Amino acid sequence: MTAKIIDGKEFAARVRGQVGEHVTRLKNDHGITPGLAVVLVGEDPASQVYVRSKGKITVEVGMKSVERRMDADTSEADLLAVIEELNNDSEIHGILCQLPLPKHLNEDLIINSISPAKDVDGFHISNVGLLGTGQKSMVPCTPLGCLMMLRDHHGSLSGMDAVVIGRSNIVGKPMAQLLLNDSCTVTIAHSRTKDLPDVVRRADIVVAAVGRPEMVPGDWIKEGATVIDVGINRLDAPEKGEGKTKLVGDVHFESCAARAGAITPVPGGVGPMTIACLLANTVTACCRANGLREPEGLTA
Ligand code: NDP
Repeated sequence: MTAKIIDGKEFAARVRGQVGEHVTRLKNDHGITPGLAVVLVGEDPASQVYVRSKGKITVEVGMKSVERRMDADTSEADLLAVIEELNNDSEIHGILCQLPLPKHLNEDLIINSISPAKDVDGFHISNVGLLGTGQKSMVPCTPLGCLMMLRDHHGSLSGMDAVVIGRSNIVGKPMAQLLLNDSCTVTIAHSRTKDLPDVVRRADIVVAAVGRPEMVPGDWIKEGATVIDVGINRLDAPEKGEGKTKLVGDVHFESCAARAGAITPVPGGVGPMTIACLLANTVTACCRANGLREPEGLTA
């Protein structure tokens, strides 16, 4: 079998288009511009790149983008004060605090200080609880993007066997919860799982969120399964020239594509969907804050 490639770039452009239409409607019909604030503490180069591209795309879809950059040695009190100010700002509908935070800051405390209604990352303990009990919540962007691609490919996921490899709070656990909410039979695998190949071989849906380059080989994949590769791993690529690097996922693409029914590539799969879902969550948060109908197809 040769797998269908699930094109996350194309899908994300579609989602951004839908978001843009809703933003236009909110402006024209209600005089409201959705606003997203991103708080960045410190000078982590990767975080700076993410924040810049988030700001650019936010503006491209017609939303207001606010960036709050703070020094690496910012105190917890100063960061909490900035978040409080954004919580109280009626022009801001979504707040994201770029992770990781410098070590001296308590990540849980900071995340839980964001108003749950504005928590577009979906990491606040209230949103985790709402998702876990199948209630309306803000859903973490990366798993939401994976779910959208799976629903788009399969329609209903009901009754499918799904394996999520990885149990982090930002990807693995919420992904498993979303699949369960869509009536999959879900297994969560992690570093202590016994006989991972056997567990993965049973799955109709495999979501790999591990952070280990090309860890899942093709012979773990059930014929026709759908493979969602969340991993982003940068490797040296001397074949491309001195000092060059390349991105690979957590699955071995060629061998998995030879057995899967559908697969997401890296790059160009889950990655672009994550930012698109951040925008989708901001529009959803804006509609909820104003008591307006939520956009269809952009939430779980
Ligand atoms: P974490 O490091 O927080 O979690 C990794 C998980 O993988 C852990 O639960 C760990 O198990 C498990 N694991 C590690 N080794 C093995 C193994 N040998 N067998 C089975 N399970 C294993 O990572 P994240 O969830 O934050 O991210 C995972 C990947 O997804 C990374 O490559 C990251 O860059 C990428 N990512 C991509 C995003 C995107 O937009 N596309 C967004 C977020 C992340 P244990 O709990 O037992 O230690």
